[in-house]
Amino acid sequence: MDRQQEYVLRAIEERDIRFIRVWFTDVVGTLKSVAVAPAELESAFEEGLGFDGSAIEGFSRITESDMLVKPDPATFQVLPWRGQPPVTARMFADIHTPDGSPSPGDPRQVLRRALDKAADMGFTFYTHPEIEFFLFEPPIVPGEAPRPIDQAGYFDHVADSRGQDFRREAIGVLESMGISVEFSHHEGAPGQNEIDLRYADALSTADNIMTFRTVVKELAAQAGCYASFMPKPLSGHPGSGMHTHLSLFEGENNAFYEAGAPYQLSRIGRQFIAGLLRHGAEISAVTNQWVNSYKRLWGGGEAPAHICWGHNNSSAMVRVPLYKPGKENSCRIEVRTLDPACNPYLAFAVLLTAGLAGIENSYELPDEAEDDVWRLTDAERHALGILPLPSSLDEAIGAMSRSELVADALGEHVFDVFLRNKRREWTDYRAQVTPFELERLLPLL
Ligand code: GLN
Ligand code: MG
Ligand code: MG
Ligand code: MG
Repeated sequence: MDRQQEYVLRAIEERDIRFIRVWFTDVVGTLKSVAVAPAELESAFEEGLGFDGSAIEGFSRITESDMLVKPDPATFQVLPWRGQPPVTARMFADIHTPDGSPSPGDPRQVLRRALDKAADMGFTFYTHPEIEFFLFEPPIVPGEAPRPIDQAGYFDHVADSRGQDFRREAIGVLESMGISVEFSHHEGAPGQNEIDLRYADALSTADNIMTFRTVVKELAAQAGCYASFMPKPLSGHPGSGMHTHLSLFEGENNAFYEAGAPYQLSRIGRQFIAGLLRHGAEISAVTNQWVNSYKRLWGGGEAPAHICWGHNNSSAMVRVPLYKPGKENSCRIEVRTLDPACNPYLAFAVLLTAGLAGIENSYELPDEAEDDVWRLTDAERHALGILPLPSSLDEAIGAMSRSELVADALGEHVFDVFLRNKRREWTDYRAQVTPFELERLLPLL
C-alpha cells in the first residue's frame, strides 16, 4: 500500500466516514457511482472491485464483462452536500481488465494515454473551463420548453436573486472539495450562469468537471430548481458552451509563451492551434457530441461555427486571449467549440492529440480571421480558406469515422463504441417528425 492509500484509510477512520463512493465515467460522459464500505477499501486499492462492465456504455463486450474498479487515492474528497453524518466521501477510479491492464473502454485511461504522449514530448497539459449552464423551474416536462428561473442577462447583478445565491453556494461547496473557482456571473440567456474553474492539469480538470456537474445538479435540486448542461435548451437564446483554455508547460516554463512574438505566442503555440484547426472537423463529434450540440454551434449567440482562429474574435473556434504583461504563465489559447455536455476526458484527449499533431508535423498556422466570420459571405470565407464546422451530428460522425487521429487518440475500442452510440442517436433523431415540420408544413401541404 502506498502513502496516499494509507492517508485515505486513516482519514476514513479519523473522520468516521461510513460510505465511500467510487466514481467513473462511461463513454458519453455519464457519471457512474458505486458505494463501498470502508472495510472493503484496502482490497479495492490492491485488487480493485469487481463489476459487470457489459451493462455500462462503452466498457466491454459481453464476452469479457468482468471489470475491476481501482479507486485513485489522489482524488479522495468528502462530499459536503451530504450534510449530516454519516459522512460520505468519493474517489475517482481507473478501470482495469481482470488481467490488471487498463480497460480500453475507460475514458480516464484514454486521457491518461494522451497525457503520457505529451509527457514523452516533454509537455504537461493544463486546462481551465468556463462552464455555462441553465437553472430552470421544476418540473421539467419532457417535450416542453423549460422555464428559466429569471429573466436576467449577461453580467446582470440582480438583487436578492436565486441565481446569485446559487452561484455563491455552489462555489463554496466546490472550494471545500479543493476545486478553485476564478469567476462567476450571470450569462447572456435567462436563467443562464457561468462558473470558471482555475487551471489545473488536464486529468484533474476533467475530474473537476465531472464533480462540478454533480455538485451543481445536487445543489439545484436542494434549492428547488433544475440545473441543465444541455447545449441549447431554448430556441431563441444563446446555448451553453464550455470554452476551455489550454496551455502546455515544459517543466516550469509555459511552452506557449515567447517574448516579442505576435500575441506573445510561441511557435509551439502556433503549431498547436494549427493542429486544432486542421483536425477541427474530425474531433467535433467528441467535443460536441449530441444532436443538440449543433443547434448551439449554428444558433449564433457567440458560439463558433467556423474553423478559424482570432485574437479577439468570439466567432472563431480558437481565440488567443489578450496577453497581460508579466503573466507569462497565463499565456494560453481558448477553444470555444466545446459544450458542457461533452465527456471531458475524451474531449481533452482529442484536443491534446490534435494540438500535438500540429507540433510533431510543424503545421503552418493560417492567417487569423480578424472579422466577425459570420458577416463574411460563403465566397469570402472560401477565399480565406475558412471552412465550416460540421453542421450536424451526422456530418460530425462522418468526419470522425474517417479520422485516423481520433481513432488513435481514443483507441479502437472507444472509437467504435462511440461512433455506434452516436449513429444510433442520429438515426433516432432523423426518424422524428418535429414540431417545426408540423407547424410550418402541415398548414401548407
Ligand atoms: N454561450 C456562448 C457559447 O455558447 C458563449 C458566451 C460567452 O461566454 N461569451 O459559446
Ligand atoms: Mg467567460
Ligand atoms: Mg460565457
Ligand atoms: Mg470565454
